[in-house]
This record gives sequence, C-alpha cells and structure tokens, in this order.
Amino acid sequence: MRVPPIDCDPRASTGERSARARVPRGRPGSAVLVGGGVVNLVTALKLVDHGFTVELFDRAPDPRLDRPWHEYGCTRGGGNARMFTVTEADQYSGMVLPDGEGTVFDAPPTGFGWDVRRESVRSVHDREWIREYEDLPWWLADRYETGIHDLNRSAEQGWERLFEAHPVLAGGTHLRRGILRVYSTAESHQRAVSRHDWVGDRLETYTEAEVRDRFPMFAHAGKGRLAGGIKVRGFTLDIHRFVALALDVLQARGAGLHFDSEVTGVDLGGGGTIEGVRIGSESVSARHLVISPGAYGNRLLAELGLGGRVAGVLGIWHTLPDLTGQQHSVKVSRPGRIAEDANITLGTAGGRPSLVVGSGYGFAGTSADNVDPDRVRVIQRSVDEMMRTLLPDAYEAAGGPAWLAHDPVFCVRPWTTTGLGVFDVRATATGRCVVTGGHNTGGFAQAPEVADAVLASLLGEDHPMHHLYAVARSRGSGHPSLR
Ligand SMILES: Cc1cc2nc3c(=O)[nH]c(=O)nc-3n(C[C@H](O)[C@H](O)[C@H](O)COP(=O)(O)OP(=O)(O)OC[C@H]3O[C@@H](n4cnc5c(N)ncnc54)[C@H](O)[C@@H]3O)c2cc1C
Repeated sequence: MRVPPIDCDPRASTGERSARARVPRGRPGSAVLVGGGVVNLVTALKLVDHGFTVELFDRAPDPRLDRPWHEYGCTRGGGNARMFTVTEADQYSGMVLPDGEGTVFDAPPTGFGWDVRRESVRSVHDREWIREYEDLPWWLADRYETGIHDLNRSAEQGWERLFEAHPVLAGGTHLRRGILRVYSTAESHQRAVSRHDWVGDRLETYTEAEVRDRFPMFAHAGKGRLAGGIKVRGFTLDIHRFVALALDVLQARGAGLHFDSEVTGVDLGGGGTIEGVRIGSESVSARHLVISPGAYGNRLLAELGLGGRVAGVLGIWHTLPDLTGQQHSVKVSRPGRIAEDANITLGTAGGRPSLVVGSGYGFAGTSADNVDPDRVRVIQRSVDEMMRTLLPDAYEAAGGPAWLAHDPVFCVRPWTTTGLGVFDVRATATGRCVVTGGHNTGGFAQAPEVADAVLASLLGEDHPMHHLYAVARSRGSGHPSLR
C-alpha cells in the first residue's frame, strides 16, 4: 500500500499507515465509515453536520482522480447520472420468465432472464439467495413495497434538506426536476397512470402524439415503440460531480478521507465485542462504525454474520448527445424486452449536453465480479436496440452501433431478495456498529433516509428503517407479526 508523501493533503490520505495515525480513538462522537459510495457519503455529510468526527475508508481510488470506471464501486463506477423518484427503490418480487419456468434469476439474458454469472462459478450463497427470493409470498412483497415507498417519500424531504444545508450539491450538479416516464404499450401506460395516482406523484399525462410533440428527442421514435407518457415528481443529477463535491465538503469540514484503503476485517475484543476494523495489518478503532460496502462487501459482512445477504445486479451505461435541448430526464418502460427499463438522464459529457442512458439487469450473484462478458453483451445489444428505435437521431450522432465493438461500461447494484435494504445495528466496545446496504434500484434515492436512520442509531433514537430493514425480518426468522 502506498504511503502518502509528507507534504500531501493530510485529510485525503491513502493507505493503512495513515489510518492509524489519523483516526481519533474512542473519542465521543467519532465514527469510522467503511465504503464511500453515495449511501455512506450522504451519511458522512449527515454525521459531520451533527458534530461527529468522521474518518472514511474506501478500497477504491479517490473518485476525484477520475480513474477508469472499473476501479470504483457502483456509484462512481457507473455512468454520470442518477435519478430520484418516489418509486425508485422498488419491489422486484415474483419476476417470472416468459415461459413460467422459474424466475429471472434462473435463466441467462438469451432466455429473458438476468443471470450473467459464469457457468463455472455458482456458489451455495447464490443458491440460498435465489431460494429466499423465490420464497417471498406476493402479499408480503406488497406489504414491503408500501414501507419502501414511505421511506422514499421521507427521502424526498431528506434530499431537499441536504440541498439546503449544502447548496453546492444542488447548484453544481446539473440538477433537473420533473421526470417524464414513457411506455411502449397502451396497457403499461394505463397501468402506470393508475399506479402513480395511487403513489401520488403523477403531475401530467401525455398521449403518444403529445410525447413526440413536446419531447422532441422522441420525435422520430419507431412506429409502435411509444404508447404514451406521464410526468412525475423527481429529479436527476450528475452523480460523479455530486460525489466530488460531497468529498470536498467533507474535507473542508474536517473529515478524514482514506482511499486505496481496503478494510479486511472486523476486530473483536475478548467478549466478542466489536472494537474496530482492520486495514492490512493496522487496527482502527472509533466510537462508532458505519459499514456500507455496496455489492462488494460479502467477505467483510460474513464476519458479522451477514455474508450472502447482498447480491450484485449490474446495469449498462452509454452516453448520447442531447440534440434537442431536453428539459426533463426520462424513464423508459418496455415490457417483454431484455432491457425493459431504462433511465435517460440529462447530463453533460465533454462540456456538451448529453443523454446518459442506464439500463439492464444482470445478476452477478453474491460475488460482484462474477460476470460472463458474453452474457453482458446480450444485454448490451438489447440496450442498443432500445436506443436505435426510441432515440434514432441521438443514437446515430453518437456513432450508432459502433459502441457494440467494445465491452460496455457497467456497474453493479447491491440487491437483496426482498427489496428491503439491509440495516443492522449492534453494540461495539464504546458505541454502535451499523451496517447498511442493498436498496436495489434505489441506493441513490434512499441515501438521505439511510443517513437519518444511521444518525438515529448512533444517538440511540428510533427510526422506521430500523424496523423495516432489520435483517431478521427479511430473513423470515421473525414472528409474522413483526413482518
Ligand atoms: C444502471 C444503473 C442505474 C442506476 N440508477 C439509479 C438511479 O437512477 N437512482 C437510484 O437511486 N439508484 C440507481 N442505481 C443504483 C445505485 O447506483 C446504487 O444503489 C448505489 O450507487 C449504491 O451505492 P452504495 O453506496 O450502496 O454502494 P457503492 O457505490 O458500490 O459503494 C460501496 C463502496 O464500498 C467500497 N468498499 C467495498 N468493500 C470495501 C472494503 N472491504 N473496504 C473498503 N471499502 C470497501 C467500494 O469500493 C465502494 O466504493 C442504479 C444502478 C445501476 C447499475
């Protein structure tokens, strides 16, 4: 591990040596955060705002160095866009294959499933994970979804509070409000109108002709590809910029940022109480620990009895030019396609307005890097077909199918069997250890709510997420009345 030069910025240090030197041990209000994705970054901001001393460790390089995408976790490794909607972190239970023979986790993309794992690597944890997914009854999934949406609604307020507390995070990130949702079939359009009325976030409804007329990126969409749209509450922003600015804010507020610093384990004291974490041969202690490793933390989580709780589901990214000056980012729904959902987010690339497309689901199992490139290419071709038929002008301007000659950029979302995130709290020698993660399609959207729940834990207060995302509940080990 590299030792930082003596004259480097002391708050953005790298490696294990810096860890021991800089972390205040056992001081009241000190917290060590493991993982620097969006979930823990927003948590770090919350803790710093409440007077905690924060030291954050991530095994990846400093995101501000703009290293190649595959060196980073989900937040910084994916495309430069994320979206908040009230239904962002959603329920994906009961996703059966078109032939009814199993769920999407049982077949590769060629069979309309999500499985992109290499044939030769299938772990027992993967099998258990899939079985737990299949065992979730629909009525319980429905109940979970109501709770998830309630947390999303609170997160919406949380985002506004965060932007008020740190205006640069809204002003410097290409924030765009109001999301257009478009549907490829009349039936899915109709269902969406009812659903979003029930959720309470629908602002407007459009016929196919209105979508083409008012949102010119779709003016030349293929015949039969669009059935209508709605506008809902929500916003999008440049996530890479958000991450960089959040790190700047944290640094200015005295947080210690340690990159290239992999946490290899948890230190237990005599009675089995957590005392800190290990970084290489160094031990780091603090009053509180907050561990949020995304889809990459199963080895670390296994030490806490949480191994195999979180699997990885990858999605693909591509960037097109915004030729028509769009005002709203878009969600696409195309039932029956391999890449059936997509986000098209307004952003900037090379200083020019752009459309950042994120789409597809590829199940990597409980090892986030267990990915067969040939299977990912099947998803890539479906994303290509979506862009070619829905956004033909932007697609051609970006070079058409030329991107298919290269492996796509993708990132791996942390995903749970139930749609409920993970929220685990236990005592440390001097405070609490909180593990957060999961959140499926909505880790960005839910981040401020996770931050509130972590703060509440460290202050010994109650928060609805403590109950909804308690691991015992989603494991089915609790009494039904707890569910
Ligand atoms: C195509 C696509 C589109 C998406 N769009 C949206 C969207 O519009 N809205 C939305 O809400 N969500 C979206 N998501 C999901 C969202 O991006 C993720 O849920 C979120 O980024 C996960 O953040 P995280 O902090 O949990 O994990 P990560 O970003 O993966 O962060 C975890 C960090 O922990 C570090 N780490 C892991 N293990 C260790 C260790 N042992 N020691 C030290 N560090 C460690 C990793 O390096 C990583 O930086 C999308 C995902 C995909 C794939």
